[in-house]
Amino acid sequence: MEAGAVKRVVIAGGGTAGWVAAAALVRHLGPLLSITLVESDEIGTVGVGESTIPTARSFHNLLGINEPVFVRETHATFKLGIAFENWRAEGDRYFHPFGSVGRSVWMGDFQHFWLEAAARGFAAPYGAYSPEQLAAEAGRFSNDPEAGLAYAYHLDATAYARFLRGLAEPAGVRRVEGRIERVTRDGESGFITGLELASGERVEGDFFIDCTGFRALLIGETLGVSFEDWGQWIATDRALAVQTESVGPPVPYTRAIAYGAGWRWQIPLQTRVGNGLVYASADLSDDEARQRLLDALDGRPLFDPRAIRFRTGMRSSAWSHNCVALGLAGGFIEPLESTSIHLIHVAVTRLLQLFPFHGIDDAIVSRFNAQATREGEGIRDFIILHYKLTERADTAFWRRCRDMAIPDTLTQRIALFAESAMAYQAGEDLFRVDSWVAVMLGQGIRPAHWHALAQLMPDAELRKAFTDLEAGVRARVAKLPPHEAAFAN
Ligand code: FAD
Repeated sequence: MEAGAVKRVVIAGGGTAGWVAAAALVRHLGPLLSITLVESDEIGTVGVGESTIPTARSFHNLLGINEPVFVRETHATFKLGIAFENWRAEGDRYFHPFGSVGRSVWMGDFQHFWLEAAARGFAAPYGAYSPEQLAAEAGRFSNDPEAGLAYAYHLDATAYARFLRGLAEPAGVRRVEGRIERVTRDGESGFITGLELASGERVEGDFFIDCTGFRALLIGETLGVSFEDWGQWIATDRALAVQTESVGPPVPYTRAIAYGAGWRWQIPLQTRVGNGLVYASADLSDDEARQRLLDALDGRPLFDPRAIRFRTGMRSSAWSHNCVALGLAGGFIEPLESTSIHLIHVAVTRLLQLFPFHGIDDAIVSRFNAQATREGEGIRDFIILHYKLTERADTAFWRRCRDMAIPDTLTQRIALFAESAMAYQAGEDLFRVDSWVAVMLGQGIRPAHWHALAQLMPDAELRKAFTDLEAGVRARVAKLPPHEAAFAN
């Protein structure tokens, strides 16, 4: 690829992706770069993306974000996991908690001991050994490090972008308001040279970050990087989103409630609740979806539901020529495990690590793309797991999910767990062993065998270990204040 020092960075788009990129680049590489962000108020942002995972906290630490200020400005609440309702079967419920469940040893993870204890009749339900799950269900929380909880945030997406803008602009990012009408390229190298705005202004740069959302103006429309569609595994392709008034104190977890043609979310913020219905257009009409969402709301809607169309999948290369795509421009895996903002955070972190100061180098580009692909595919498999391992046969949607062929990587994982209770976190996998186990057990796999190590424990010893563990978790949770205390002023 072309050599040439990179000094002028242009970020196209000012949603969550654009402002995350701007805030991180200026904080860490500000003196070395000139950074311009172009956004259009007229086009606006996607306006959803309100549930995060605990990795957001590490990223915020990199940005030097003060948590109480962030929580106040984004109306955030705290999240300890996700409750999955009606997924395995109608009326069934399980919890995917953050953090570690029980206690593991080097030879075998906790589930091996739990399965042995359950077989001997000593074990409480799996979730009884998770402090995060117990705290979530009791409506208790503390962000004091002493409490040791793994947590994330529910936040107001628009306020989050505004908050990040408030960090980026004073630190030196130049914001240009305007609609991008044309993207120009160098005739020889094909590199992007500039953005032409409706106002006639031209914004030139050495390196471009495409944060234009589903439009993918640079990576897709201009550079023609193909989109790998994962619709054969994840059939949902539309969403309706609406906010409602709160009808009670916000719970510290997201609810993901399945129904005949998809699922709906409930994300409680300090003063309102984010709601959405995710559906497969092949199975539900837009009118039916709207009615289903409105019928399910607990509180008064604050506006008319907004419709969003999407395709699940990823760009074949997140980085092409002198352009990296972040956020929805790079791809989208539906929001079931709230992973999109994480993917933005992790991609920006990687860009900071691999930044092409001395020109675009093929080796750097390949490294960036290989990591992005593996991360995306790992998350994809984890999402497919929820749909595939269903016992529901009440609608064509669920029958298709249950019967569909899945990627080999996931088939192997499921077979390994079903046979031996083994789960693993491979190189670029986001989800840890505890997450795979919680969802595989929750979706109904009962492993045929487990590690024989646990059999070495006599009844009295195993019973005591489980009684002590459960009592320890209960005692920790009993000391926690109510969730609201963590954001009350
Ligand atoms: P956008 O918010 O769409 O921003 C695009 C920007 O580009 C805007 O500023 C726009 O004005 C600008 N732009 C576009 N075209 C032009 C142009 N021609 N000229 C100038 N500017 C232009 N993620 C999570 O982590 N958790 C969740 O719970 C979650 N829920 C979701 C639910 C749904 C239904 C969907 C669709 C997504 C969800 N996401 C979630 C993903 C999350 O919303 C996005 O990853 C995140 O908001 C980033 O969006 P973005 O910045 O890439 O795009």
